[in-house]
Amino acid sequence: MKIPSTLVRTPKIKKTWKSNTDPQAQKVYLMERTFIGNIVETRHSHEYLSSVIVHICRRWKVKRPKLIFFTKGNAHVYGYCTEKGIYLNAGKERPGCSLPILIHEIAHWIVDQLYGEEVGLEHHGARFVTVYGKLMNDYKLFPASCWKVLCDEYGVEYVHDNTDSITE
Ligand SMILES: [Zn+2]
Repeated sequence: MKIPSTLVRTPKIKKTWKSNTDPQAQKVYLMERTFIGNIVETRHSHEYLSSVIVHICRRWKVKRPKLIFFTKGNAHVYGYCTEKGIYLNAGKERPGCSLPILIHEIAHWIVDQLYGEEVGLEHHGARFVTVYGKLMNDYKLFPASCWKVLCDEYGVEYVHDNTDSITE
């Protein structure tokens, strides 16, 4: 299957790095850059982003993270996730206040809640990629079938079985 050109664009990569504890992180970022630019321009309200968290956590039966907006610090950090909650960059132009950014971070949150012991410090491993892809599909940001093709293209591992499939 070929990924529709409306979903991807050519990535521009400035520097590369590799983490020992999170070996797939770089590949995931590279993969993400092929599509994120096309869908990340829309800014969403705090209320909308909060409501997405409520909905997703209910579906996945995990406790809800706090949603914290930060305005200072590295402008290139759109968001991050800790055991306290999800942090989104609400600084100049609100670069983190976007559904795809929230979904990346909430995928971290879910994986940590459900598979924390299994994944340890491997934040962008197969479990993460699978949850991330499911959420992107659920929110009609990226179809699941194309997600798998993109993962294969970038050599990104995901979970092939259905053990964590979601039922409404
Ligand atoms: Zn991440």
